Amino acid sequence: NLALDTNPDDLSLVLDHVHCRFDRHQAVNDISLEIRPGEVVCLLGPSGCGKTTLLRIAAGLQIPSAGRVFLGGNLVSAADGLHWPPERRNLGLAFQESALFPHLTVLENVCFGIKSLPRGKRRSHALDLLERLGMAGSAKVYPHTLSGGQQQRVALARALAPSPNVMLLDEPFSSLDARLRDQIRDDTLHVLKELGTATLLVTHDPEEAMFMADRIALMREGQIVQTGTPTDLYCNPVDPFVVRFFGQVNECTAKVKNGSVTTPLGELDASNFPEDSTVQVLIRPEAVKVRPLEDNADNANASHVQVSRLLGSTSLVHICAHGEEDQEMHLHARVPGVFLPREGQPVSLSLDMSQVFLFRQ
Ligand code: ATP
Repeated sequence: NLALDTNPDDLSLVLDHVHCRFDRHQAVNDISLEIRPGEVVCLLGPSGCGKTTLLRIAAGLQIPSAGRVFLGGNLVSAADGLHWPPERRNLGLAFQESALFPHLTVLENVCFGIKSLPRGKRRSHALDLLERLGMAGSAKVYPHTLSGGQQQRVALARALAPSPNVMLLDEPFSSLDARLRDQIRDDTLHVLKELGTATLLVTHDPEEAMFMADRIALMREGQIVQTGTPTDLYCNPVDPFVVRFFGQVNECTAKVKNGSVTTPLGELDASNFPEDSTVQVLIRPEAVKVRPLEDNADNANASHVQVSRLLGSTSLVHICAHGEEDQEMHLHARVPGVFLPREGQPVSLSLDMSQVFLFRQ
């Protein structure tokens, strides 16, 4: 049975209970995922979790050991051996380092894969795509004269040129330096949305996934841990792995007493957890509000600053937090703007509870 309620005819790509085994290693373990027309879905996860294998299965470059793949309503892979090769799948593919044809100009590279248009129209279509990706000025040059970022733009234009129903992108921006990458991401997203192309994008960079995705599928060890909008994953993570994947967090454990847990940052509501159970508390650095206190004897036992560092738009402050019952915790606070309290500065701490997460241990 399909994992979804939706008819696969209405979806651009459906992975239905897909498995992939290499010898003893289960690289993809029962993954179901669908992409609607015009939607950008990011496969996010640490190195080796199976992202590329899943993308290769969608592309027809890897045969799944079990499960089905549908593209535009057509069954293209199934356990009975049915397998459409990549060239039959009407896909656009771009990888981290997509090689352009060195003996063809930029324009000829982009025209290469267009078969559906009459010869006269191919040129104007290719030029239009190059224009959208900021490369029309280089139409007549050969790839070796372009920078890596420019070549990547041309590779994206070439992949988009046959107007594929589905684009499969594997870390297409990761070889670019940070400033260039932001611009190319922006331009690529704009083009994908304008053309309404369903896209599966592989990345290990949470910021890239948040920026590009309508939905993120976060993977761990061959399985999807959580699927949802960037806001879903950031604000309603299903487990500690999801919280940690979006950045460093402060962690401690505590026992539930009378429906709450006591931490060095105060008491937190834990009424959803059984009495006497142990919970894991994860606190994002941006959840910690820091208020400097007067430096006098009354505050001798208060929490205090260990180090503060300016990171640019935010400041990072390491704090030794003192709670009741001699609890102590070393934690990081991330504060907007320039906030550089001196070492030893006594502070009081409070929490933005929307960035604090409790899980049963
Ligand atoms: P990365 O971000 O590092 O590219 P990934 O999440 O894309 O990682 P995959 O490349 O899909 O991960 O690999 C998943 C697992 O499957 C890894 O343990 C990898 O070693 C293994 N694997 C991938 N391809 C093969 C293969 N052809 N033969 C054997 N093992 C493979």
